[in-house]
Amino acid sequence: TTLFGRKSDERSKQAFEQAKRVIPGGVNSPVRAFKSVGLTPVYMERGEGARVYDIDGNAYIDYVGSWGPLILGHAHPEVIDAVKSVAEKGTSFGAPTELETEMAKLVCERVPSVDLVRMVNSGTEATMSALRLARGYTKRSKIVKFEGSYHGHADSLLIKAGSGVATLGLPDSPGVPESTASHTITVPYNDLESVRLAFEKYGEDIACVIVEPVAGNMGVVPPLPGFLEGLREITREYGSLLIFDEVMTGFRVHYHCAQGLFGIEPDLTCFGKVIGGGLPVGAYGGKREIMEMIAPTGPIYQAGTLSGNPLAMAAGYTTLKLLTPDTYEQLERKAARLQAGFEENARKYGVAYTINRVGSMVCPFLRIGRLSISIRPAPPTSSGSKRILPRSWSLA
Ligand code: PMP
Repeated sequence: TTLFGRKSDERSKQAFEQAKRVIPGGVNSPVRAFKSVGLTPVYMERGEGARVYDIDGNAYIDYVGSWGPLILGHAHPEVIDAVKSVAEKGTSFGAPTELETEMAKLVCERVPSVDLVRMVNSGTEATMSALRLARGYTKRSKIVKFEGSYHGHADSLLIKAGSGVATLGLPDSPGVPESTASHTITVPYNDLESVRLAFEKYGEDIACVIVEPVAGNMGVVPPLPGFLEGLREITREYGSLLIFDEVMTGFRVHYHCAQGLFGIEPDLTCFGKVIGGGLPVGAYGGKREIMEMIAPTGPIYQAGTLSGNPLAMAAGYTTLKLLTPDTYEQLERKAARLQAGFEENARKYGVAYTINRVGSMVCPFLRIGRLSISIRPAPPTSSGSKRILPRSWSLA
Protein backbone atom coordinates (compact mmCIF):
# COMPACT_ATOMS: atom_id res chain seq x y z
CA THR A 1 0.00 0.00 0.00
CA THR A 2 1.12 3.53 -0.62
CA LEU A 3 2.08 5.72 2.31
CA PHE A 4 0.80 8.97 0.69
CA GLY A 5 3.80 10.90 1.94
CA ARG A 6 3.85 9.29 5.39
CA LYS A 7 7.09 8.10 6.96
CA SER A 8 5.58 4.83 8.05
CA ASP A 9 2.23 3.27 8.88
CA GLU A 10 3.57 0.23 10.71
CA ARG A 11 2.23 1.12 14.16
CA SER A 12 -1.18 2.06 12.79
CA LYS A 13 -1.35 -1.27 10.99
CA GLN A 14 -0.42 -3.16 14.15
CA ALA A 15 -2.93 -1.18 16.19
CA PHE A 16 -5.63 -2.04 13.67
CA GLU A 17 -4.80 -5.75 13.84
CA GLN A 18 -5.10 -5.64 17.64
CA ALA A 19 -8.34 -3.69 17.48
CA LYS A 20 -9.99 -6.08 15.04
CA ARG A 21 -9.67 -8.84 17.60
CA VAL A 22 -11.94 -7.06 20.06
CA ILE A 23 -13.88 -4.35 18.20
CA PRO A 24 -16.18 -5.07 15.22
CA GLY A 25 -14.15 -4.13 12.16
CA GLY A 26 -11.58 -2.60 14.52
CA VAL A 27 -13.50 0.66 14.83
CA ASN A 28 -16.27 2.25 16.84
CA SER A 29 -17.81 4.00 13.83
CA PRO A 30 -17.66 2.46 10.34
CA VAL A 31 -16.27 5.41 8.38
CA ARG A 32 -13.06 5.28 10.43
CA ALA A 33 -12.13 1.92 8.89
CA PHE A 34 -11.30 3.63 5.55
CA LYS A 35 -12.76 0.48 4.02
CA SER A 36 -14.41 2.10 1.02
CA VAL A 37 -11.08 3.60 -0.06
CA GLY A 38 -9.15 0.39 0.55
CA LEU A 39 -6.84 1.81 3.21
CA THR A 40 -6.16 0.94 6.82
CA PRO A 41 -7.12 3.45 9.49
CA VAL A 42 -4.66 6.01 10.78
CA TYR A 43 -4.37 5.84 14.57
CA MET A 44 -4.14 9.24 16.14
CA GLU A 45 -1.98 10.23 19.06
CA ARG A 46 -2.73 13.91 19.50
CA GLY A 47 -3.99 17.06 17.88
CA GLU A 48 -3.08 20.69 18.20
CA GLY A 49 -4.86 23.48 16.35
CA ALA A 50 -5.18 22.51 12.68
CA ARG A 51 -2.76 19.59 12.96
CA VAL A 52 -3.03 15.97 14.04
CA TYR A 53 -0.24 13.51 14.68
CA ASP A 54 -0.52 9.75 14.29
CA ILE A 55 1.16 7.03 16.32
CA ASP A 56 3.81 6.54 13.61
CA GLY A 57 4.89 10.16 14.05
CA ASN A 58 3.30 11.50 10.85
CA ALA A 59 1.82 15.00 10.95
CA TYR A 60 -1.28 16.03 8.99
CA ILE A 61 -3.25 19.19 8.37
CA ASP A 62 -6.72 18.21 9.50
CA TYR A 63 -9.55 19.28 7.22
CA VAL A 64 -11.98 16.90 8.90
CA GLY A 65 -12.07 18.32 12.42
CA SER A 66 -13.49 15.10 13.87
CA TRP A 67 -16.23 15.29 11.20
CA GLY A 68 -17.35 18.70 12.36
CA PRO A 69 -17.15 19.33 16.10
CA LEU A 70 -13.67 20.87 16.20
CA ILE A 71 -14.49 24.24 14.73
CA LEU A 72 -11.80 25.78 16.97
CA GLY A 73 -9.18 23.17 16.09
CA HIS A 74 -7.72 20.48 18.30
CA ALA A 75 -7.10 20.94 22.00
CA HIS A 76 -8.05 24.61 22.15
CA PRO A 77 -6.45 25.80 25.41
CA GLU A 78 -9.63 27.44 26.75
CA VAL A 79 -11.76 24.40 26.01
CA ILE A 80 -9.22 22.07 27.63
CA ASP A 81 -8.96 24.32 30.72
CA ALA A 82 -12.74 24.42 31.07
CA VAL A 83 -13.01 20.63 30.85
CA LYS A 84 -10.17 20.15 33.34
CA SER A 85 -11.55 22.51 35.92
CA VAL A 86 -15.02 20.94 35.73
CA ALA A 87 -13.58 17.39 35.83
CA GLU A 88 -11.78 18.11 39.06
CA LYS A 89 -15.12 18.67 40.75
CA GLY A 90 -16.70 15.46 39.51
CA THR A 91 -17.68 14.00 36.18
CA SER A 92 -21.37 13.23 36.52
CA PHE A 93 -24.06 13.70 39.14
CA GLY A 94 -27.36 12.54 37.75
CA ALA A 95 -28.67 15.77 39.25
CA PRO A 96 -28.89 19.16 37.54
CA THR A 97 -26.01 21.62 37.42
CA GLU A 98 -26.13 25.37 36.70
CA LEU A 99 -23.88 24.92 33.70
CA GLU A 100 -26.74 23.16 31.88
CA THR A 101 -28.90 26.26 32.25
CA GLU A 102 -26.08 28.52 31.05
CA MET A 103 -25.63 26.30 28.02
CA ALA A 104 -29.36 26.26 27.27
CA LYS A 105 -29.56 30.06 27.59
CA LEU A 106 -26.75 30.44 25.10
CA VAL A 107 -28.42 28.16 22.56
CA CYS A 108 -31.80 29.90 22.97
CA GLU A 109 -30.16 33.32 22.57
CA ARG A 110 -28.28 32.34 19.45
CA VAL A 111 -31.06 30.40 17.74
CA PRO A 112 -34.24 32.48 17.82
CA SER A 113 -36.54 29.58 16.83
CA VAL A 114 -35.47 27.73 19.99
CA ASP A 115 -37.41 28.63 23.16
CA LEU A 116 -36.51 25.46 25.04
CA VAL A 117 -33.68 23.03 24.44
CA ARG A 118 -33.01 19.53 25.74
CA MET A 119 -29.46 18.13 25.83
CA VAL A 120 -28.72 14.59 24.68
CA ASN A 121 -25.50 12.73 23.90
CA SER A 122 -25.22 12.55 20.11
CA GLY A 123 -26.71 13.80 16.88
CA THR A 124 -28.48 10.48 16.46
CA GLU A 125 -30.21 10.89 19.80
CA ALA A 126 -31.21 14.43 18.87
CA THR A 127 -32.91 13.47 15.58
CA MET A 128 -34.44 10.32 17.06
CA SER A 129 -35.92 12.29 19.96
CA ALA A 130 -37.12 15.12 17.72
CA LEU A 131 -38.96 12.58 15.56
CA ARG A 132 -40.67 11.03 18.56
CA LEU A 133 -41.67 14.48 19.72
CA ALA A 134 -43.00 15.44 16.28
CA ARG A 135 -45.00 12.21 16.10
CA GLY A 136 -46.30 12.56 19.63
CA TYR A 137 -47.19 16.21 19.19
CA THR A 138 -48.99 15.82 15.86
CA LYS A 139 -50.39 12.35 16.67
CA ARG A 140 -49.28 11.24 13.19
CA SER A 141 -46.81 8.55 12.22
CA LYS A 142 -45.25 9.25 8.83
CA ILE A 143 -42.14 11.32 8.28
CA VAL A 144 -40.58 12.81 5.17
CA LYS A 145 -36.82 12.73 4.65
CA PHE A 146 -34.65 13.41 1.63
CA GLU A 147 -32.65 10.98 -0.43
CA GLY A 148 -28.97 11.13 0.34
CA SER A 149 -29.50 12.84 3.68
CA TYR A 150 -28.07 11.27 6.79
CA HIS A 151 -29.69 11.99 10.13
CA GLY A 152 -27.93 9.45 12.31
CA HIS A 153 -28.73 5.77 12.70
CA ALA A 154 -32.16 5.69 14.34
CA ASP A 155 -34.44 3.10 12.71
CA SER A 156 -36.88 5.54 11.13
CA LEU A 157 -34.09 7.53 9.56
CA LEU A 158 -31.92 4.72 8.25
CA ILE A 159 -34.06 4.29 5.23
CA LYS A 160 -32.99 3.68 1.70
CA ALA A 161 -33.22 6.62 -0.60
CA GLY A 162 -35.83 5.09 -2.86
CA SER A 163 -35.84 6.03 -6.49
CA GLY A 164 -38.65 8.09 -7.94
CA VAL A 165 -41.06 10.39 -6.29
CA ALA A 166 -42.51 9.99 -2.81
CA THR A 167 -41.24 6.49 -2.25
CA LEU A 168 -42.25 4.71 0.89
CA GLY A 169 -39.04 3.63 2.56
CA LEU A 170 -37.21 0.34 2.45
CA PRO A 171 -34.83 -0.35 5.30
CA ASP A 172 -31.24 0.62 4.53
CA SER A 173 -29.88 -1.86 7.03
CA PRO A 174 -30.88 -5.32 8.15
CA GLY A 175 -32.41 -4.96 11.59
CA VAL A 176 -34.70 -2.08 10.66
CA PRO A 177 -38.20 -3.59 10.45
CA GLU A 178 -40.08 -2.94 7.24
CA SER A 179 -43.02 -1.83 9.34
CA THR A 180 -40.88 1.00 10.72
CA ALA A 181 -39.45 1.87 7.32
CA SER A 182 -42.91 2.03 5.81
CA HIS A 183 -43.60 5.19 7.80
CA THR A 184 -40.67 7.01 6.19
CA ILE A 185 -41.30 8.73 2.89
CA THR A 186 -38.17 9.63 0.94
CA VAL A 187 -38.13 12.32 -1.70
CA PRO A 188 -35.32 13.91 -3.74
CA TYR A 189 -33.51 16.85 -2.12
CA ASN A 190 -34.26 20.28 -3.58
CA ASP A 191 -37.39 18.90 -5.27
CA LEU A 192 -40.41 20.73 -3.88
CA GLU A 193 -42.75 19.19 -6.42
CA SER A 194 -42.07 15.73 -4.98
CA VAL A 195 -42.64 17.01 -1.47
CA ARG A 196 -45.96 18.45 -2.59
CA LEU A 197 -46.96 15.15 -4.18
CA ALA A 198 -46.02 13.29 -1.00
CA PHE A 199 -48.21 15.65 1.02
CA GLU A 200 -51.10 15.36 -1.45
CA LYS A 201 -50.99 11.61 -0.98
CA TYR A 202 -50.16 11.22 2.71
CA GLY A 203 -50.47 14.77 4.10
CA GLU A 204 -52.92 14.07 6.93
CA ASP A 205 -50.58 11.40 8.27
CA ILE A 206 -47.24 13.24 7.99
CA ALA A 207 -45.83 14.28 11.37
CA CYS A 208 -42.80 16.12 10.06
CA VAL A 209 -40.30 16.86 7.35
CA ILE A 210 -36.71 16.48 8.49
CA VAL A 211 -34.09 18.21 6.37
CA GLU A 212 -30.41 19.08 6.41
CA PRO A 213 -30.66 22.78 5.50
CA VAL A 214 -27.39 22.26 3.63
CA ALA A 215 -27.11 18.62 2.60
CA GLY A 216 -23.67 17.97 4.04
CA ASN A 217 -23.93 14.22 3.87
CA MET A 218 -24.11 14.06 0.09
CA GLY A 219 -21.35 16.44 -0.77
CA VAL A 220 -22.45 19.84 0.59
CA VAL A 221 -25.49 20.43 -1.59
CA PRO A 222 -26.95 23.86 -0.83
CA PRO A 223 -30.72 24.34 -0.82
CA LEU A 224 -31.98 25.83 -4.08
CA PRO A 225 -33.67 29.21 -3.79
CA GLY A 226 -37.18 28.68 -2.46
CA PHE A 227 -36.64 25.09 -1.32
CA LEU A 228 -36.54 25.68 2.44
CA GLU A 229 -39.22 28.37 2.16
CA GLY A 230 -41.38 25.87 0.27
CA LEU A 231 -40.91 23.25 2.98
CA ARG A 232 -41.93 25.84 5.57
CA GLU A 233 -45.10 26.65 3.63
CA ILE A 234 -46.13 23.08 2.88
CA THR A 235 -45.59 21.84 6.44
CA ARG A 236 -47.60 24.78 7.78
CA GLU A 237 -50.38 24.14 5.34
CA TYR A 238 -50.72 20.50 6.44
CA GLY A 239 -50.08 21.01 10.17
CA SER A 240 -46.80 19.05 10.06
CA LEU A 241 -43.63 20.11 11.80
CA LEU A 242 -40.51 21.28 9.99
CA ILE A 243 -37.36 19.87 11.60
CA PHE A 244 -33.99 21.29 10.65
CA ASP A 245 -31.24 18.78 11.26
CA GLU A 246 -28.47 21.23 12.06
CA VAL A 247 -26.16 18.59 13.52
CA MET A 248 -23.61 19.53 10.88
CA THR A 249 -24.63 23.09 9.98
CA GLY A 250 -25.44 24.27 13.52
CA PHE A 251 -22.96 26.91 14.71
CA ARG A 252 -20.87 25.94 11.66
CA VAL A 253 -22.22 27.91 8.71
CA HIS A 254 -23.39 31.00 10.60
CA TYR A 255 -23.49 32.51 14.07
CA HIS A 256 -27.25 31.83 14.08
CA CYS A 257 -26.88 28.43 12.33
CA ALA A 258 -28.21 27.61 8.84
CA GLN A 259 -31.64 28.94 9.81
CA GLY A 260 -30.04 32.33 10.47
CA LEU A 261 -28.18 32.19 7.19
CA PHE A 262 -31.29 31.39 5.16
CA GLY A 263 -33.83 33.25 7.27
CA ILE A 264 -36.19 30.31 7.92
CA GLU A 265 -37.76 29.35 11.26
CA PRO A 266 -38.17 25.61 11.71
CA ASP A 267 -40.42 24.20 14.45
CA LEU A 268 -37.68 21.98 15.85
CA THR A 269 -33.92 21.97 15.43
CA CYS A 270 -31.41 19.20 16.08
CA PHE A 271 -27.85 19.96 17.07
CA GLY A 272 -24.68 17.94 17.54
CA LYS A 273 -21.00 18.20 16.64
CA VAL A 274 -19.98 21.87 17.28
CA ILE A 275 -22.40 22.17 20.21
CA GLY A 276 -20.26 19.67 22.13
CA GLY A 277 -16.87 21.14 21.22
CA GLY A 278 -15.45 17.63 20.81
CA LEU A 279 -17.31 15.93 23.65
CA PRO A 280 -20.36 13.72 23.12
CA VAL A 281 -23.30 16.15 22.93
CA GLY A 282 -26.45 16.51 20.91
CA ALA A 283 -29.48 18.67 21.56
CA TYR A 284 -32.92 19.35 20.20
CA GLY A 285 -35.01 22.40 20.73
CA GLY A 286 -37.80 24.52 19.37
CA LYS A 287 -41.08 26.19 20.14
CA ARG A 288 -42.09 26.15 23.80
CA GLU A 289 -45.53 24.71 23.10
CA ILE A 290 -43.99 21.72 21.34
CA MET A 291 -41.01 21.20 23.64
CA GLU A 292 -43.26 21.22 26.71
CA MET A 293 -44.75 17.97 25.45
CA ILE A 294 -41.55 16.18 26.55
CA ALA A 295 -41.35 14.53 29.96
CA PRO A 296 -41.49 15.72 32.70
CA THR A 297 -43.80 18.55 31.53
CA GLY A 298 -45.50 16.37 28.94
CA PRO A 299 -46.21 12.74 28.15
CA ILE A 300 -43.55 12.12 25.47
CA TYR A 301 -40.70 10.23 27.08
CA GLN A 302 -37.04 10.97 26.54
CA ALA A 303 -34.21 10.74 29.09
CA GLY A 304 -30.46 10.21 29.56
CA THR A 305 -28.15 9.23 32.44
CA LEU A 306 -25.33 11.37 31.05
CA SER A 307 -27.41 14.05 29.30
CA GLY A 308 -26.15 17.53 30.14
CA ASN A 309 -22.96 15.96 31.46
CA PRO A 310 -20.73 18.60 33.10
CA LEU A 311 -17.61 17.87 31.02
CA ALA A 312 -19.62 17.93 27.81
CA MET A 313 -21.39 21.15 28.82
CA ALA A 314 -18.06 22.79 29.71
CA ALA A 315 -16.55 21.93 26.31
CA GLY A 316 -19.68 22.95 24.40
CA TYR A 317 -20.30 26.15 26.33
CA THR A 318 -16.71 27.31 26.01
CA THR A 319 -16.67 26.51 22.30
CA LEU A 320 -19.90 28.41 21.63
CA LYS A 321 -18.69 31.37 23.71
CA LEU A 322 -15.51 31.59 21.65
CA LEU A 323 -17.48 31.69 18.40
CA THR A 324 -18.37 35.25 17.45
CA PRO A 325 -19.89 36.65 14.24
CA ASP A 326 -16.33 37.54 13.29
CA THR A 327 -15.27 33.90 13.56
CA TYR A 328 -17.65 33.05 10.75
CA GLU A 329 -16.27 35.82 8.57
CA GLN A 330 -12.79 34.46 9.18
CA LEU A 331 -13.96 30.95 8.36
CA GLU A 332 -15.58 32.20 5.17
CA ARG A 333 -12.35 33.90 4.08
CA LYS A 334 -10.23 30.87 4.90
CA ALA A 335 -12.55 28.41 3.20
CA ALA A 336 -12.78 30.65 0.10
CA ARG A 337 -8.98 30.70 0.00
CA LEU A 338 -8.86 26.94 0.27
CA GLN A 339 -11.36 26.66 -2.56
CA ALA A 340 -9.45 29.12 -4.74
CA GLY A 341 -6.16 27.28 -4.18
CA PHE A 342 -7.82 24.02 -4.91
CA GLU A 343 -9.32 25.33 -8.13
CA GLU A 344 -6.04 26.88 -9.20
CA ASN A 345 -4.19 23.60 -8.74
CA ALA A 346 -6.89 21.55 -10.42
CA ARG A 347 -6.77 23.87 -13.43
CA LYS A 348 -2.99 23.84 -13.47
CA TYR A 349 -2.87 20.06 -13.59
CA GLY A 350 -5.87 19.70 -15.90
CA VAL A 351 -7.94 17.77 -13.37
CA ALA A 352 -11.68 18.07 -13.74
CA TYR A 353 -13.28 19.09 -10.48
CA THR A 354 -16.33 20.43 -8.77
CA ILE A 355 -16.22 22.12 -5.42
CA ASN A 356 -19.33 22.60 -3.38
CA ARG A 357 -18.99 25.00 -0.51
CA VAL A 358 -21.19 26.71 2.05
CA GLY A 359 -19.03 28.67 4.46
CA SER A 360 -16.49 26.27 5.92
CA MET A 361 -18.33 23.17 4.70
CA VAL A 362 -16.33 22.24 1.64
CA CYS A 363 -16.58 19.20 -0.59
CA PRO A 364 -14.27 18.82 -3.58
CA PHE A 365 -15.02 16.24 -6.23
CA LEU A 366 -12.09 15.21 -8.38
CA ARG A 367 -11.89 13.38 -11.60
CA ILE A 368 -8.75 12.50 -13.49
CA GLY A 369 -9.28 13.49 -17.07
CA ARG A 370 -11.64 16.06 -18.40
CA LEU A 371 -15.36 15.96 -18.05
CA SER A 372 -17.29 16.49 -21.21
CA ILE A 373 -20.08 18.31 -19.44
CA SER A 374 -19.93 21.60 -17.64
CA ILE A 375 -21.94 22.39 -14.57
CA ARG A 376 -23.03 25.97 -14.55
CA PRO A 377 -23.29 28.14 -11.46
CA ALA A 378 -26.79 28.17 -10.03
CA PRO A 379 -29.09 31.00 -11.10
CA PRO A 380 -28.94 34.16 -9.01
CA THR A 381 -31.46 34.60 -6.23
CA SER A 382 -33.94 37.42 -5.85
CA SER A 383 -32.34 40.55 -4.49
CA GLY A 384 -32.38 41.22 -0.80
CA SER A 385 -32.46 37.54 0.09
CA LYS A 386 -30.02 36.32 2.67
CA ARG A 387 -29.44 33.24 0.57
CA ILE A 388 -25.98 32.33 -0.52
CA LEU A 389 -25.41 30.90 -3.93
CA PRO A 390 -24.62 27.29 -4.51
CA ARG A 391 -21.06 27.42 -5.78
CA SER A 392 -20.58 24.53 -8.03
CA TRP A 393 -18.84 24.36 -11.36
CA SER A 394 -16.23 22.37 -13.13
CA LEU A 395 -13.85 22.51 -16.03
CA ALA A 396 -15.47 21.77 -19.35
N1 PMP B 1 -27.41 14.48 11.41
C1 PMP B 1 -26.47 14.93 10.57
C2 PMP B 1 -26.81 16.00 9.57
C3 PMP B 1 -25.17 14.41 10.64
O1 PMP B 1 -24.24 14.86 9.80
C4 PMP B 1 -24.88 13.43 11.61
C5 PMP B 1 -23.50 12.83 11.76
N2 PMP B 1 -22.68 12.93 10.68
C6 PMP B 1 -25.91 12.99 12.46
C7 PMP B 1 -27.16 13.56 12.33
C8 PMP B 1 -25.66 11.95 13.51
O2 PMP B 1 -24.86 12.48 14.53
P1 PMP B 1 -24.02 11.49 15.49
O3 PMP B 1 -22.98 10.88 14.63
O4 PMP B 1 -23.48 12.41 16.54
O5 PMP B 1 -24.97 10.50 16.05
